[in-house]
Amino acid sequence: MNTRYVFVTGGVASSLGKGIVAASLGNLLKARGFKVTIQKLDPYINIDPGTLNPYEHGECYVTGDGAETDLDLGHYERFLDIHTSHANNVTTGKIYQAVINKERRGDFLGKTVQVVPHITDEIQHWIKQLAQSGSYDFVITEIGGTVGDIESLPYIEAVRQMKWELGDQCVSIHLTLVPYLRAAGELKTKPTQHSVKNLLEQGLQPDIIVCRTEYELSENIRKKIALFCNVSYNSVIQCVDAKSIYEVPLNLHEEGLDVQVLKATGITECKEPDLTQWKDFLYKLEHPKHNVDIALVGKYTALKDAYKSIYESISHGGASNDCAVKVHSISSEDLNENNVADYLSKMNAILVAPGFGSRGIDGKIQAIRYARENNIPFLGICLGMQCAVIEIARDVLNLKDANSSEVEPGCANPVIDLMEDQKKISGMGGTMRLGNYKCSLVKGSRVYDIYGADEIQERHRHRYEFNNKYLSLYEANGVKFTGVNKNENLMEIIELPSHPWFVGVQFHPEYRSTVLHPHPLFVNFIAAAMKNKESKK
Ligand code: GLN
Repeated sequence: MNTRYVFVTGGVASSLGKGIVAASLGNLLKARGFKVTIQKLDPYINIDPGTLNPYEHGECYVTGDGAETDLDLGHYERFLDIHTSHANNVTTGKIYQAVINKERRGDFLGKTVQVVPHITDEIQHWIKQLAQSGSYDFVITEIGGTVGDIESLPYIEAVRQMKWELGDQCVSIHLTLVPYLRAAGELKTKPTQHSVKNLLEQGLQPDIIVCRTEYELSENIRKKIALFCNVSYNSVIQCVDAKSIYEVPLNLHEEGLDVQVLKATGITECKEPDLTQWKDFLYKLEHPKHNVDIALVGKYTALKDAYKSIYESISHGGASNDCAVKVHSISSEDLNENNVADYLSKMNAILVAPGFGSRGIDGKIQAIRYARENNIPFLGICLGMQCAVIEIARDVLNLKDANSSEVEPGCANPVIDLMEDQKKISGMGGTMRLGNYKCSLVKGSRVYDIYGADEIQERHRHRYEFNNKYLSLYEANGVKFTGVNKNENLMEIIELPSHPWFVGVQFHPEYRSTVLHPHPLFVNFIAAAMKNKESKK
């Protein structure tokens, strides 16, 4: 079958959930047996979001091949149960860099290099190249930003050209907002009409309109949108606010989104989607038998998106334990020795988040000490693991001045230190230790039981590591290094066997949890929280 290209644009407002709609469609097509991949085109000029503060753009999601990408790729992996890569997230920065490199090489010798055709050709190249990389039936391309943004213009033009060239191999979906005006007691279609007009001015007629709305769309409203936006009645799809993002594929299926996409791309025969496993997950998520309270200690607490994958992994882990997890987001900057018990004594487990820089480190260390001394299950991820190493040094090994050289360069006891091959790096973008690395697990350890494997592969994003000079001192004090990267002799996992559940990991398990394959560390961590709660009854 020829590859079909689905484009998802957004209008009226940002943050409507284009990523979730695109991922839900991918989920439905995959459940129908198609080979599907999905990518995000981001109109900003950064090469990737790796250099962005999480407050700017939410979490930076890391793929197996070590790309620092938009958080929507996390949704793609969680909804489609696939692995994405560098090719699944392209920015204006990447596009221009490629075109400029070609110009310097002399590829366009004699020609004026322009947005049309050179930039638009490069955009199409990234889309088509992805299709070829896996002989996919469907490539879903989400265009970041909102129609009408100056930055989006070349992307819309590239889509227009592809539709012109490939006809009904392409389908364009436009996501808009149908706001409810309380004073008038009405849903309003005008913003959608304007947004579609805007698209039409740029030469793109959407085939399907997905409407985010707080209330069901009446027949009249649907007719109005169809008539004024030039689409069939059945191609006006409502997307009503859902309790959980994981309901969206089912809701959109009920509305016929997948059927409309198949129709528009001329596919007449195909099986109904098999959504059994998805529905099982959702049932467990929405009908929990237990509940626990978990503290998430980090410094980007004002924005949930900053720890997106951690929240989602916790929800996967909760569902597989039939357990509702209430996550209490606690700013590490607020924690100190005197108030740590007030914040944490009611928690069934404590997770200390990844991060960078020195802000909030002391609070993280306080939280870890509290978890360690009070036998509360503890999971430390990346910086969270590094803080556990510092905490143990100061309190158990009696190295009061122990620190990470990220926090205190030149400190007397750098138990966490810059990795050797990081010392010569000066650039900031894409220069960390990124993506998949293997890790061997020690037989008989907690993590060996949890993973049920001798060797695992997890994703990384860090510059600092455990300083092996202190290894024997830690071991002599009951700390077990239960996961090791043997190639580079890097300590990847620490455990305290004397504690009910104390695990610190240098990697990021949260990037690998999906609905159909919840990550075992999170599943086990939630189970430990439940056990802890039970033991206190
Ligand atoms: N800042 C730490 C490092 O670079 C931890 C990074 C992280 O938590 N992702 O090693």
